[in-house]
Order: sequence, then C-alpha cells, then structure tokens
Amino acid sequence: MNIVVCIKQVPDTAGGVKFNPDGTLDRASMLAIMNPDDKAGLEAALRIKDATGAKVTVLTMGLPKADVMLREAMAMGADEAILVTDRVLGGADTWATSSTVAAAVKKLDYDLIITGRQAIDGDTAQVGPQIAEHLGLPVISYAEDIKVEGDSVVVKRQYEDRYHMVKAKMPCLITALSELNEPRYMTPGGIFDAYDEKEVTVWGRADLTDLDDANIGLAGSPTKIAKASDKVAKGAGEKVNLDPTESVNYLMEKFREKHII
Ligand SMILES: Cc1cc2nc3c(=O)[nH]c(=O)nc-3n(C[C@H](O)[C@H](O)[C@H](O)COP(=O)(O)OP(=O)(O)OC[C@H]3O[C@@H](n4cnc5c(N)ncnc54)[C@H](O)[C@@H]3O)c2cc1C
Repeated sequence: MNIVVCIKQVPDTAGGVKFNPDGTLDRASMLAIMNPDDKAGLEAALRIKDATGAKVTVLTMGLPKADVMLREAMAMGADEAILVTDRVLGGADTWATSSTVAAAVKKLDYDLIITGRQAIDGDTAQVGPQIAEHLGLPVISYAEDIKVEGDSVVVKRQYEDRYHMVKAKMPCLITALSELNEPRYMTPGGIFDAYDEKEVTVWGRADLTDLDDANIGLAGSPTKIAKASDKVAKGAGEKVNLDPTESVNYLMEKFREKHII
C-alpha cells in the first residue's frame, strides 16, 4: 500500500504574526515548522506503515528551504520525500497550489493521500479537497481517527457536536486534524539516515507534464491578496462595580445595545 502525505512548511504563528511594510507576511521573523495538522496526518500514515508495511511518501510544494521539513518527516519514518519547487510556482493561491500538488501526486503510485485539514498560515482548508477534485477521488475531511480495512478506510469524521463514521474505498483522500494523535519524535538514527542515506527528490515545473501553465503560480491564481493588515486593536475594557443585580442589568442592556443578545 502506498500513502502520500502532503505537508506544508508554515511560519510558527504561536508567537504572533508579523507583516512587511508592503503587507506580505514577514516569514523571516518567524520559525518555519511542519504544519501541525500535516504532522498528525504523517503520524497516522506512519502508524498504518507500522501495522501493514505501507510505503509513506511525503510531498511538498514550497521554497528550497522546505528540505529541512522533508528530512524531519524522513527522520520520523517517511520512506521518500519530494520537493516541488520552481520560481514560476510562487504566489499561488489555493487553486494553483492544488493544481500543482495534484499534478505531482499523479506521477506517484498511491492508494491513500493524506493532507492536513488546514494550514495555520493560509487557514483556508481548501487545498486537500481541491487535490481530491483534480484527481477525481472521494474525500473525507476532518479525520479524528483512521483505520484501514482491506481495500477501504474507515474514518471518524468530526462534525460540530457529534461525529460521522465514513467508509470509502481506496484510492481516496483524507484531511487530518491535529487532534488525530500525538506525533512521534524523530529518532537520532532517523536524523542521521535522513541526511546521510536518504535523498529528497526535487521536481521543477518541467517535471510536471500534466499541468497547464494557466493553472500555476501568481498568474494562474484566480484570487490575489489585495491587502493584508493587523487586527484592529480592541478598545479599552469597562469594569462594572454596581451591586450584583444592577451589574447584570447594566451588562444585559449593553449586550442588547450591541446586538449580542
Ligand atoms: C486569495 C489568496 C491569495 C494568495 N496569494 C498568495 C501569494 O501571493 N503568495 C503566497 O505565498 N501565498 C499566497 N496565498 C497563500 C497560498 O495560497 C496558500 O498558502 C496555499 O494555497 C495553501 O493554502 P492554505 O495555506 O490555506 O492551505 P490549506 O488549504 O489550509 O491546507 C490544507 C492542507 O493542504 C496541504 N497543502 C497546502 N499547501 C501545500 C503545499 N504547498 N504543499 C503540500 N501540501 C500543501 C497540507 O496538507 C495542508 O494541511 C494566497 C492565498 C489566498 C487565499
């Protein structure tokens, strides 16, 4: 069985997000990490590998520095890594990203494709389902648990206040939630192997033959970011020091005024 996990290198937004004066993300000021949902998706793939001997390939589209993240994935246990990188692919929106990633996946043997639910920088949660659409595959999103049963997968799918149990025949695509599991650490031997023994396969635009120029990079993106800004700072708070009943009445009146209730 072959599993392809799509992973994205993202800025660690835990310490806040910074912008350049032109409104683009100041990526240099933030650490670059493996997107958390993708890491859980990779862990799920590695657990299937532990149980069944599946082959796990990680694939990313990004800058050459994403090599570090791919080596991290191999040090965790992934068998192969592919980096799709080319200047003409830059500035892609979700359509151009998914078109490119799907064209790369098409070159591989796959039974199961796993992506994260969403990336913590773009936050759109669109790329996984779009890849499935390009490949003509069923998609199960928001996976909290994944089991392989013969030629099918059974997925516990998070759904507001309940969950769905969904079964699909492979090949199919699953989008993973970070709640899925606790990803394993890299092993020291795995780190040595990832740098000394293993290679990252690098593909450029010319390697993706099943891809139209109209669907790549900034020029092939139907959407363009016109403006980005910081959140508007909240106004100063107000402390209410009346007796309890009056305080509640005062607050209720304020909530009504602001149409909160
Ligand atoms: C309107 C718009 C315009 C944009 N313009 C630009 C721009 O000019 N320059 C720019 O740098 N970015 C731009 N972006 C951001 C860029 O489109 C997204 O980062 C990218 O398309 C992925 O979307 P996302 O981060 O929301 O991923 P999501 O859809 O949230 O990701 C879901 C999952 O898809 C997989 N995935 C996503 N991206 C990749 C990838 N690259 N490789 C492998 N797997 C992946 C991962 O498994 C991930 O967990 C733009 C985004 C939008 C919405």
